[in-house]
Amino acid sequence: MSESEVSNLLDRVKLHYQHLSLSDELLEEWFRVLKKYNSDEVFNNLDKYLMIEKNRDRIPNPFDLTDGLITENQKEKLKNDYLIDCNLCHKTMLLSEYNSTHYKKCLLIKALIRKLAKEGTKVTYQDLDNYSYERLDKLYDKYLEKNKKIRIEGIRKLC
Ligand SMILES: [Zn+2]
Repeated sequence: MSESEVSNLLDRVKLHYQHLSLSDELLEEWFRVLKKYNSDEVFNNLDKYLMIEKNRDRIPNPFDLTDGLITENQKEKLKNDYLIDCNLCHKTMLLSEYNSTHYKKCLLIKALIRKLAKEGTKVTYQDLDNYSYERLDKLYDKYLEKNKKIRIEGIRKLC
């Protein structure tokens, strides 16, 4: 909401609650709370507020009017999010979750399952998914380290 929209909103509130005294401080405070929200939605919420009998003597505060609303910022985030299926594990999740945490962990789990299977150890995806990424990453490093030693020893034996 712009400051002038908030000012219009307060004028409307004043129509219904004539003892409300308007001031610059009040406008400033309302604007601080409401600037993140969509003007139409806040005006709609005022209508809803006014229709409730018990609110007849209670001047709304700006928080009453954001009830159930999400900020324009949050809306933007949701707009850029989609449900996707991970092509590695076929789970359904939000794209943001996939990008921020899932993808690298899923890759690591798949790699660990393959390597452990080669050693004859059977683990399921779910077994490994219970661990944090950091824990799995350490496990993978340890595995690589162990394999390197085995390889070096193997080469020594050959020489
Ligand atoms: Zn996955």
